[in-house]
Amino acid sequence: MSPRTVCARFRMMALGYSDMRGISMDSPQKLDQIRESICDVGRRLYRRGLVVAHDGNISVRIRDDEVLSTPTCMCKGEMQPDDLCLLNLQGEQLGGHRRPTSESLVHLQIYRQRPEIRAVVHCHPPHVLAYSVTQTPLPRFVLAEVEVMLGEVPMVPYQTPGTSDLADAIAPHLVGTNALIMSHHGTVTFAGDLEMAYWYTEVLEHYCRVLLLARQLGPCVSLPVQFHGALEQLRRGDDACRQRSSTV
Ligand SMILES: [Zn+2]
Repeated sequence: MSPRTVCARFRMMALGYSDMRGISMDSPQKLDQIRESICDVGRRLYRRGLVVAHDGNISVRIRDDEVLSTPTCMCKGEMQPDDLCLLNLQGEQLGGHRRPTSESLVHLQIYRQRPEIRAVVHCHPPHVLAYSVTQTPLPRFVLAEVEVMLGEVPMVPYQTPGTSDLADAIAPHLVGTNALIMSHHGTVTFAGDLEMAYWYTEVLEHYCRVLLLARQLGPCVSLPVQFHGALEQLRRGDDACRQRSSTV
């Protein structure tokens, strides 16, 4: 596939999720759509085994300083729109009858530091966790499309889940990436819309699965260095495209 074709494909992926354009961000119709989308992503995370029990959390920024978030202690496969909580960026609960996720500090850290981010997904994908618990860095330039989508995925040193220490630990790693691996814990992915944030999780988990399968056959072979620059260029073009098309 030519670089132009790869780029066009990712642009179509990004642009394909602009179905909410044209609806006011504050309209009840828009907010209902966002609530449904969060529940839908929760079901997909649970069905795909990216979370178990009441693991994981999802949020969407609905205004500059307000975020809809999943509640604590609830299976992500069984959420209803009314279960979601409304928070401001200082972590104060503004709405919802359930308590917000204990990982809201991580989500809010990302929203404060990256104004263009509109959605955050945190979960515990098993193949990524295999890399996390063995402290094995992900190799670069093994799969072209993964490189275009994710680039470098930093591994954040362990801190206790649900604490401000964990939110502080991710802060230095938020520049130039849309995915983090939190050591001995899980992943956090973030983007200009919820679908893309979810896709980053899927791509990361799929990549780690491929790497682990490949290990049974032999060492992974990286792409020759002369191709790296073109992939970096595609990734930069893809980032700009996603920022222009982000809608949620
Ligand atoms: Zn977690």
